[in-house]
Amino acid sequence: MAKLMIEQLQDQVRGAVITPNDEGYDRARRVYNAMIDKRPRVIVEAADADDVKAAVTFAREGELAIAVRGGGHSVPGFGTGDDAVVVDLSRMRGVHVDPARRTARADGGATWGDFNDATHAHGMATTGGIISTTGVGGLTLGGGIGYLARGFGLSCDNLLSAEVVTADGRRLIASENENADLFWALRGGGGNFGVVTSLEFRVHPVKDIYGGPMFFELDDAAAVLRFYREFIADAPEQFGGFPAWQIAPPLPFIPEKRHGEPFLAFVACWAGPIEEGARALKPLHDVAPVVAESVGPMPYPALNSAFDALVPPGLQHYWKANFVKELTDEAIEAHLQHGPKVPVVNSTVHIYPINGAVHRLAPNATAFAYRDASFATVIAGMWPEPADNKANIKWVRDYYDATAPYSEAGGYINFMAADDQDRIKANYRGNYQRLVEVKRAYDPDNLFRLNQNIKP
Ligand SMILES: Cc1cc2nc3c(=O)[nH]c(=O)nc-3n(C[C@H](O)[C@H](O)[C@H](O)COP(=O)(O)OP(=O)(O)OC[C@H]3O[C@@H](n4cnc5c(N)ncnc54)[C@H](O)[C@@H]3O)c2cc1C
Repeated sequence: MAKLMIEQLQDQVRGAVITPNDEGYDRARRVYNAMIDKRPRVIVEAADADDVKAAVTFAREGELAIAVRGGGHSVPGFGTGDDAVVVDLSRMRGVHVDPARRTARADGGATWGDFNDATHAHGMATTGGIISTTGVGGLTLGGGIGYLARGFGLSCDNLLSAEVVTADGRRLIASENENADLFWALRGGGGNFGVVTSLEFRVHPVKDIYGGPMFFELDDAAAVLRFYREFIADAPEQFGGFPAWQIAPPLPFIPEKRHGEPFLAFVACWAGPIEEGARALKPLHDVAPVVAESVGPMPYPALNSAFDALVPPGLQHYWKANFVKELTDEAIEAHLQHGPKVPVVNSTVHIYPINGAVHRLAPNATAFAYRDASFATVIAGMWPEPADNKANIKWVRDYYDATAPYSEAGGYINFMAADDQDRIKANYRGNYQRLVEVKRAYDPDNLFRLNQNIKP
């Protein structure tokens, strides 16, 4: 029976249907986090929304869970699952820009690299992530924190509409005017409500930016963090950026004898007039001597891909995250205790600003609830060797435990670990019950449960 159904699925799908008997199975089941080793029942590499519909119908009729995969970056590995139907959107990566309307539409499997390249050609951008290989879909559905968020809001705040294949196999439009409840839930609620096959965004005139990374001595880290706390509260909204604990990679702009040493880096992105860039970054330069930097004018997509090489596919990942309302002296002290112990060049901790345009929406305007946070911290453990798992996970957990008393109960859903499912309610706060109601309306049987799950 199951075999017959797979053959029917193969007949319906224009993309590829890959089962454990197929040669490409091991390649197709692999996700970005090499710690994840799951054996799906079938992987559908969809070519279009009709393929997605066929895969969803197959899963529903077979009572199998669906794992949706866009960019594949989910740290808990939600883009795959044992015995699941994987809907892999990585063949659906088109991006179409409408410069007159200042909108851009991305297929459900596009990455931020795909998106930025297309919009940059028109001198436009919208809020995306820090790394270009991350999926537009997964990042946006969880919220979307990035360089441009202070000026333009989260990625999800720029979403104008989405095309969605829901659990019952319908193809719906979600926008302020159509299926508005679904549209509300998609903006922060993650992959709980269906497969999003295309996303339409508002884009803004941003072409080249002034910025890049600068490295400060550990002895100056306290001063830089304290400065950042005050400065970012009311810096011009064209200023984006964040402090990061970072081991110096072997790059030419860093003195060779310092390669491999830990620093407090600051990554800046001035998206205002280029000629004002040096002046905008001067306050940071004035805090303490900069050991090394690669700062200047560059195309926005260049900054968005500048750190890709530090995080190639195939690393081990374990992350923890928190929202922070006030970066107190005690919290900074905890960062100073644990940040300099960052174990490998791939691992890092970022303290992203959450303010400016993000604060201008009410906490219940979209599913993303923490509009009153000031910062989102991510402790991103990423390392090459499985043999080092224990030590690296310990670093992440110790760091997290030390900062938790100065943080909110909830953490950004897209940065949270697989063992954070009990924090989902805290993440959504007052929005949780409404999310449950939308879930009941669109996915009452919880077909989409391989995610930070909102139970119907
Ligand atoms: C190296 C790295 C850098 C990151 N940087 C940032 C950053 O700067 N800012 C930020 O906000 N986040 C960042 N993240 C977190 C990122 O937002 C999440 O990991 C996100 O889930 C990744 O989306 P994806 O499509 O790449 O992943 P996937 O693993 O493909 O998807 C993750 C989950 O999202 C849902 N999903 C994805 N696409 C769709 C779709 N089209 N329809 C329905 N559901 C979908 C599904 O539930 C899926 O299981 C980063 C993660 C990594 C690993």
